[in-house]
Amino acid sequence: MQNFEAKIVKASSLEELEEIRIELFGKKGYFAKEFEKLKNLPNEEKPKVAKELNEAKNALHILLQSKKDDLLAQAIQQRLEEERLDLSLFEPRELKGALHPVKQTLDTIIEYFVALNYSIETGPLVEDDFHNFEALNLPKHHPARDMQDTFYFEDGKLLRTHTSPVQIRTMQTQKPPIRMISPGAVFRRDFDLTHTPMFHQVEGLVVEEKGKVSFANLKFILEDFLRYMFGEVDVRFRPSFFPFTEPSAEVDISCIFCEGKGCRVCSHTGWLEVLGCGLVDPNVFAAVGYKNVSGYAFGLGVERFAMLLHRIGDLRSLFEGDLRLLEQFR
Ligand SMILES: [Zn+2]
Repeated sequence: MQNFEAKIVKASSLEELEEIRIELFGKKGYFAKEFEKLKNLPNEEKPKVAKELNEAKNALHILLQSKKDDLLAQAIQQRLEEERLDLSLFEPRELKGALHPVKQTLDTIIEYFVALNYSIETGPLVEDDFHNFEALNLPKHHPARDMQDTFYFEDGKLLRTHTSPVQIRTMQTQKPPIRMISPGAVFRRDFDLTHTPMFHQVEGLVVEEKGKVSFANLKFILEDFLRYMFGEVDVRFRPSFFPFTEPSAEVDISCIFCEGKGCRVCSHTGWLEVLGCGLVDPNVFAAVGYKNVSGYAFGLGVERFAMLLHRIGDLRSLFEGDLRLLEQFR
């Protein structure tokens, strides 16, 4: 009996314990054999031996069960240790961010022009009158200044109303040829369904030796660019007026919503206005001291492009910071 007790106490696994259990209580186990022997004993001895056997059997059974509970508890503890969760591990699924649709659109536009070797130029958001207006053929009291509701500071400086001052600053510091775009934020005092006080423009400027670039080059680039952005659309140029270009044109694409048949978005005209452009006015070149050059310029609103590309109806929703809008752009 001592032998079995020691074996049970020393058992180090549930498998080992099970072997001992069979050895003790199995059909051909120790107790089966001992009880078998009873019938060979004299009748008067039988009850005493049987009682001792039963007591030993119960005692070993209890010991075995208690050892089994211990080993089970150990096994659970070991499993918990092995499967412990490392809560400091980074779990990326719930934290995915998204680029704002305006930023995405801006990147797409920039990629096109960078591939054509245009440089990307930037400039200050707070501008002076000369760079924002004067040098762009918008002298004081010019009626076209009213086209742009300007934020002024007390010292006469202003928040730039377009990214055109970057063109002026670039021409002031670089010699032609120039091939650049100026993406960035601009500011106007306007707020409704289609206007926000801050929005983004991309303007382009190409300056070459006189006669090397013409309206035909401008037309080719813009048609190609608009099909890169919007797919196989028709493109048309309408005569227009901008102080800094002459001649000037506004550019339309065939409506991407109704394919030119006429719908609410295109005001049933079948066309969407997307760009302004023209050949650089000689007065602008004169303001920066350029001589014997010709060039073209164009400008577009990034939010307008983003709204058309992503079918966004209200410009203001782009700036409300509602995460549900962003989640659609993952
Ligand atoms: Zn339409």
